Amino acid sequence: MSLIPTPPPGTRLSRQTLLVDADDTLWENNIYFERAITAFISYLDHQVHTAEEVREHLNACERATIAAHGYGVHSFRRSLIDCFEHLSDLPITPERHARIISFTDAIAANEIELLPEVDTTLSDLQQRHRLIMVTKGNLLEQTDKLERSGLRPFFSAVEVLAEKNPAAYRDIASRHQCDPASTWMIGNSPRSDINPAMAAGINAIFIPHDFTWVLEHEVVDSPAGDVQLMELGSFAELLGYF
Ligand SMILES: [Mg+2]
Repeated sequence: MSLIPTPPPGTRLSRQTLLVDADDTLWENNIYFERAITAFISYLDHQVHTAEEVREHLNACERATIAAHGYGVHSFRRSLIDCFEHLSDLPITPERHARIISFTDAIAANEIELLPEVDTTLSDLQQRHRLIMVTKGNLLEQTDKLERSGLRPFFSAVEVLAEKNPAAYRDIASRHQCDPASTWMIGNSPRSDINPAMAAGINAIFIPHDFTWVLEHEVVDSPAGDVQLMELGSFAELLGYF
């Protein structure tokens, strides 16, 4: 990965457009799904397949469900039920169905847990830059999380996309009149935030999260042309550049 050199102090870029991912960039998200999956695998207690094999089958179920029904907790619930039906010899009774669904209750019920220094960093950035949230998923779930996070006032616009691909980023850049040279996509997912934004000619800032969802894993592309790529260790490190 090629990184731009750290500018000396006092050389922050002036007035940029910052497109900011939400899940696992601003707040914890995937850890709640991982807890539900751990509970599900334990409940399934498969006598032939290992936990890893069950997890791989669940990943395949999730890919299929998302393709048919989009992202969100409702799709995740459907994937757990599908996985149980495929792998268990037991019939899925109403009791078992309810038990499996209960593993996901905590996902929507959790308080929004902001990642370190996110609120103070956004508060600082929005004084000098234009901030647009660019998240993907279920519209109601994502907007509900944003309202509960208390971060809505820092953003001049919010985009909830069905999928983050180069065409979606080009569309956002066009609708918000973003100059690619002064526009940056900031996020934790190579597959959704970094690679498709760079493919659309937008600069990117990769902030890895230790527990990024396995379906978001991808090798970070090398930037082409004038596109710039940075990798930072935390959200607060943005203040060194912007
Ligand atoms: Mg994310």
